[in-house]
Order: sequence, then structure tokens, then C-alpha cells
Amino acid sequence: MISPTLAAQLEAELQQHRKYIVNGIRSHLEHGDDIDQTTFNQIAESGDEAVADLINDTEIAQFGNELAELQKIDAALSRIKAGTYGSCIACGTDIAPQRLQVQPAAARCLACQAELEAEQQRGIAPGATL
Ligand SMILES: [Zn+2]
Repeated sequence: MISPTLAAQLEAELQQHRKYIVNGIRSHLEHGDDIDQTTFNQIAESGDEAVADLINDTEIAQFGNELAELQKIDAALSRIKAGTYGSCIACGTDIAPQRLQVQPAAARCLACQAELEAEQQRGIAPGATL
């Protein structure tokens, strides 16, 4: 378990980072009338429907990284709420606080992350980056 103080600090950082990404996406979107339903759902789940209103099919490719990042952040925020933040989602061991300070949205311990990335490189776990 990580300390409540660190959890609170990282939660604030995650919130701030989330705003930054959302603003970045928003500022890039000056047009966006056609909303793909899948895209909409994806972003609506992230809790910011204003952004969902702005994004269309073509832009999803462009903002794929940002959206993936948003999802990671939201997942981390919900783990904080659920009290499971700081534990690896794959093996359940504590994630090193130093790792969380560098990557507050980290969901896996270093070992599991390395394993996941190795699998992705071999093409075994496509899409698991989310
Ligand atoms: Zn692990």
C-alpha cells in the first residue's frame, strides 16, 4: 500500500494531467461535426462529454495517444477511489512509490509492465496498451 499522502498527491497530479490532455485535444479541434458512436462512447466514458462532442472519426487516429492516456489516467483515478491504487493490476504486488511518482498512471509493477511490453512486441497482446 502507498501512503494516503502520496496517493492524494498523485491524484492531484493525475487530475492536472487529465485537464492538460483534455485541453490539448480540445484546442486541436476546431471542427468536428460527425461523431462516430464508438468514438463518442470511448470519450464519454472518460467523463468529458464536451470533448466527445468535438471529436470525429478522422480525428480519433490523430488523438489515439491522448485518448489512451486519458483512459489510463481515468483508470488510475478510479483505482484511487476504489482503494486499490498502487497495487499491480496483473500480479497484485505493490508498485514502487518511485515508479508511481514518475508515472502516476502506472497500472503494473515493473516486472509485469516489461512482460506486457515484450508480449506486445511479439504481437501476442495487441491493443493491451490501453
Ligand atoms: Zn506485477
